[in-house]
Amino acid sequence: MNASSPFAANGNVLIVGGGLVGASLAIALDMAGCHVTLVEAAAPRADAQPSYDERNLALARATVNGLNAIGVWPLVAAQATPIRHIHVSRAGEFGSARLDAARHGVDALGWTLPARELGSALLRRLDTCQHLVRLAPASLTALESHADGWRAEIKTEQGVQHIDAALLVGADGTESFVRAQLGIETDIHDYAQTLFVCTVTPERDPANRAWERFSDEGPIAMLPLAERRCGLVLTVPSESAAEVAALDDAGFIALAQQRFGWRLGRLSRPGKRHPYAIRRVASRRLTATRAVLVGNAAQTVHPIGAQGFNLGLRDALTLAELVAAATDPGSPELLEQYASRRAPDREGTMAMSHDLVRFACMPQPWLAPLRSLALLAYDRVPPLQQALARRGMGFRGEPPRAVLERLP
Ligand SMILES: Cc1cc2nc3c(=O)[nH]c(=O)nc-3n(C[C@H](O)[C@H](O)[C@H](O)COP(=O)(O)OP(=O)(O)OC[C@H]3O[C@@H](n4cnc5c(N)ncnc54)[C@H](O)[C@@H]3O)c2cc1C
Repeated sequence: MNASSPFAANGNVLIVGGGLVGASLAIALDMAGCHVTLVEAAAPRADAQPSYDERNLALARATVNGLNAIGVWPLVAAQATPIRHIHVSRAGEFGSARLDAARHGVDALGWTLPARELGSALLRRLDTCQHLVRLAPASLTALESHADGWRAEIKTEQGVQHIDAALLVGADGTESFVRAQLGIETDIHDYAQTLFVCTVTPERDPANRAWERFSDEGPIAMLPLAERRCGLVLTVPSESAAEVAALDDAGFIALAQQRFGWRLGRLSRPGKRHPYAIRRVASRRLTATRAVLVGNAAQTVHPIGAQGFNLGLRDALTLAELVAAATDPGSPELLEQYASRRAPDREGTMAMSHDLVRFACMPQPWLAPLRSLALLAYDRVPPLQQALARRGMGFRGEPPRAVLERLP
């Protein structure tokens, strides 16, 4: 980042939404010396923010590089668990694809970290920002455009404030109010699936392995966590969600065991279960006049591919890189550059997440040999294996410079 950004004197950036992506963007822009206001509806505590919850995030290697570059990773690295091996398979079929960090010359393909820990590190890092104005709890309630940007009406506990911005950033999540006010339409796909997230203790040490396993009922993932525990992500058809929610611990473990199998021996001690209904929401445009969308406001993807925050951070760091080097943060040229730089990564990642879930979970028997062959090809054909590893580690499209920096 350019510490003496010429942008500083040229207008305010208003970020609406201080979730994982908005907070990361605010920190990156603060490092570049930009004038930024961050507005977040929840109080600035990890237990108040809706997405700083018990979900376990699989963070790609590129994401960890990015979090390191903005000074967040050193605050949270001790709580993260390295992922050194990934195993992808489908119940009842012969093919599988494996990724191995050592084979690709790295110490880890990614890391697992509870969202609550990352959220709390972001809040601590925000406290050290030098130029940033933070309003929380505070909500954007109305927007008015003017010649040089936007006038935002912000409701705070002290009353209503108005903020002028040369660039408005919608980082306000899947139901983005900013996106609606800008008149940006979305394409929505309801997977008719509900995802249950909790921790479990397996009999055998997961030993830094992550699994993704598909079946007719939906995907299941197992992520390695500290103290030999695992983060379980179990997807069920939405029509059985109420039944699964009502299961006692023994019933839930029996279901998880049946779906995951016995690779880790007997599963036990399930933590509190959190259900999430799954929809894909893709904005038809990323920008409008002096406005841009990032993170879930721009695209919400199926969580099973573990791409949402990884993709959103690349949105944020690409935008920060462009704004830091610009004289006008909301110029049409900058917005066009942002949209075209993000397009290949965004479209590729969205397509991969969507196609993976649909193709891998379709019950048609004639698909079985095709799926097995595809997985075997990714496992055995070196260029395919390399492409899979590079994408799995989050290096897609034209990555922001911050993600290419080396870990300490
Ligand atoms: C179960 C589950 C597991 C997941 N696992 C992974 C994973 O392994 N890896 C991965 O990369 N991703 C994962 N994801 C996705 C990831 O959690 C999201 O992509 C990420 O949280 C999106 O961050 P965001 O900041 O864009 O949006 P959010 O986290 O939704 O934040 C939006 C913020 O905007 C605020 N806001 C909304 N409206 C207003 C307003 N009008 N004014 C002010 N503030 C407002 C909200 O309070 C909120 O804090 C998972 C998601 C789920 C559900």
